Amino acid sequence: MKIKYIGTAAYEGVPSPFCNCRVCKKAKELGGRNIRSRSQALINDELLIDFNADTVFHYHKYGFDWEKLCGCLITHSHCDHLYPDDIEIAARGYSHEHRTLNFYAAQSGYEIIKAVADKTDGGAAVTLVRAGERFTVGKYSVLPMWANHSEMTSPVIYSITADGKKMLYAHDTGIFPEKTWQLLSGEGRFDFLSLDCTGCLGLGGGWRDGHMSLVTNRETVERMRGLNLVDENTKIVVNHFSHNGGQIYDEMLEEAKKYNYIVSYDGMEIEF
Ligand SMILES: [Zn+2]
Ligand SMILES: [Zn+2]
Ligand SMILES: [Zn+2]
Repeated sequence: MKIKYIGTAAYEGVPSPFCNCRVCKKAKELGGRNIRSRSQALINDELLIDFNADTVFHYHKYGFDWEKLCGCLITHSHCDHLYPDDIEIAARGYSHEHRTLNFYAAQSGYEIIKAVADKTDGGAAVTLVRAGERFTVGKYSVLPMWANHSEMTSPVIYSITADGKKMLYAHDTGIFPEKTWQLLSGEGRFDFLSLDCTGCLGLGGGWRDGHMSLVTNRETVERMRGLNLVDENTKIVVNHFSHNGGQIYDEMLEEAKKYNYIVSYDGMEIEF
């Protein structure tokens, strides 16, 4: 499988507009991998994860093929992951001769997308998914599980399996809820993990609920290792960064390297 990170920041992006904090100033000055748009990912050029306000920009920058997309998984309904107004671009008046894009979302995202999909006259559709209930998108077997994040956004993390490979996409979440650990323990070994690292190095507090940092990422990976869900060949990426975490990309590298974690950046592609 191949994952391409087409956006890697939390809500504000890095640097954040309006902001004059050290991280934002430094990111702007250094540029390159320190500049992050809002989180979105693409699996094998055919399965999109999340649909935020940077989607049009990501399409222009990376040029992926909409006709190849078998679906779009929505993690939750916060606007850095779901920006429904732009789904209406799938309507006839704005785009022509294209396939229906199928979205998959838990309750809150489902309701939001349903309202706008109904206005696209078949250009977009949405399927309701529930934590703990496996479903199929194209060749992908997908298990949504409960995330530790704002309840009103119906947050889920996804275990995604295809071609004999398994990955976990776990953003925005703090330390996983126990009922998710129960599901995870039945999933077997993962080839790839993508973990929420909004709190960056985690120097400024716990980052146990809502989001994680490198400190709570390590705690999560160790528990997974104990359950034989990860081993030394599992590729681990930390992703979804905020300036409020306190570090830019360059400052994450040395610490992440100690644990063999890969720090995401916009445009990064990983095969596993
Ligand atoms: Zn987010
Ligand atoms: Zn800032
Ligand atoms: Zn969120």
